[in-house]
Amino acid sequence: MDSLDWIGDELIALDDASLLRVPTVVGSASGAEIEIGGRRLVLACSNNYLGLAADERVTAAAAAAALRWGAGSGASPLVSGLTRLGRDLERRLAAFKSSDDAVIFSSGFLANLGVIGALVGAGDVVFSDELNHASIIDGCRLSKARVEVYRHGDVDHLDALLGAGRFERALVATDTVFSMDGDLAPLPSLVEVAHRHGAMTMVDEAHGTGVLGRSGGGAVEHFGLEGQVDAVVGTLSKALGSAGGFVAGSERLCSWIRNRARPFIFDTAPAPAALGAAGAALEIIESEPWRRERLAEVREEIAGGLRRQGFDVLETVSAVIPVIVGESADALALAAAIQERGVFAPAIRPPTVAAGTARIRLSAMATFTDENVATILGAFESLDHAGESG
Ligand SMILES: *Cc1c(COP(=O)(O)O)cnc(C)c1O
Repeated sequence: MDSLDWIGDELIALDDASLLRVPTVVGSASGAEIEIGGRRLVLACSNNYLGLAADERVTAAAAAAALRWGAGSGASPLVSGLTRLGRDLERRLAAFKSSDDAVIFSSGFLANLGVIGALVGAGDVVFSDELNHASIIDGCRLSKARVEVYRHGDVDHLDALLGAGRFERALVATDTVFSMDGDLAPLPSLVEVAHRHGAMTMVDEAHGTGVLGRSGGGAVEHFGLEGQVDAVVGTLSKALGSAGGFVAGSERLCSWIRNRARPFIFDTAPAPAALGAAGAALEIIESEPWRRERLAEVREEIAGGLRRQGFDVLETVSAVIPVIVGESADALALAAAIQERGVFAPAIRPPTVAAGTARIRLSAMATFTDENVATILGAFESLDHAGESG
C-alpha cells in the first residue's frame, strides 16, 4: 500500500476514457518538419507560426545573448536588476504594441496571472469570456475577485452582466484570438461596452502577436484600437519563437505591475538567451512581412482543401485551423492516421475543449513549403472523421 496508489487508478480511468496525455518525444528543433521515432513528419500543430524558433538569425542571437549576458539572470529584476538587454526589449515590445511601456515575465501564463492579480482583488469583479485560456481562468481564481463568465464573444451578454453588477473596480478579460477555435473576439464593441460601464480592459494576444495587424502588432492593431485597451498581454513563445511573456500598457500601469504582480516580483527574470532570441524575432517580424502573408495563404489552402474533403473546419482569420471531430476516441484515431501518413498534430480533447468537440487543431506556418501543404492535405484524403479509410 503506497500513498500514491490512487494515482494509478486515476491514470487507468483516464486511459480508458481516451483522455490520457503523454508528451511525444521529438528528436529535432521545432521547424516546419520534425523528427519523431526516426521519421520526418510535417509539424502541423505548432504555435511557432512564423517559423522563427529555429531561424538561424534567432538562434544566433540567443547564443550571443547567453555569451554576453550569461545563461541565467540571477534573481528577480527587483532584486539583482534588469539587464539592459531586458530593458531594451521591453522598450521595443512597447513600441511594437504602440504602448508607452512594457513589462516582461518568464511566460505568457505568468503574465496573465500577474496582470489580473494586480488589477483586481477581493471585492472586485472580472468579466471573462467562457473560452478564455486556462491562464486567464487561473488568474481570475487567484485574484480572489468575483468572476462573471460571459458567453463566448457575446457583447450583449457582457453588457447585461456589467449593467447588473455592482462594483467599484471591474476588469473585462479576453483572448483576442481564441487558442482552440482560432476565432477573433469582437474587440471594438467589447472595449466600447467596457468603457461605457467604467470597467478596465485586458486582452491576451498570445495568438495575435506577429500574426494579425498590418505590422504584426496583433488584433489590437488589426482593429485599430491602439491605446484603447488598458493591458495588452503577449507571449514571446509563439510567433516570436522564443520563451517569455509580457504586458504592454501605460507607464502607470507598468509601474503598478512591477509593484503588485507576484509572478513578476517573485520570479527570476527570463534567461538572456530567450530575450536575445525574441529581440531578433521582432526585427524579422518588422522586416519580413511576407511571413504574415504566406501564413494567411497557407491557412486558406489547408482549411479550404479540408473543407472540400468534407471535414468540419471552423472559420478563422488566425493561424489556427480547428478540424472538429466530436468524440475523443475518434480524434485520437484520426491523429494516429495522419501521423501514419507523415503529419503530426495531436487530438485536442476535453477538458481543453468542451465534451463532444474533440478536434485536431492544425496550425499554419509561414515556412510550410507547397509540398508540406500537400502532405497535410494528402494525410486527410479519404479518411473519415474517425480516421478510417472510406
Ligand atoms: C500559450 C498561451 C498563453 C501562455 O503563454 P506561454 O508564454 O506559453 O506561457 C497564454 N494565453 C494564451 C491564449 C495562450 O494560447
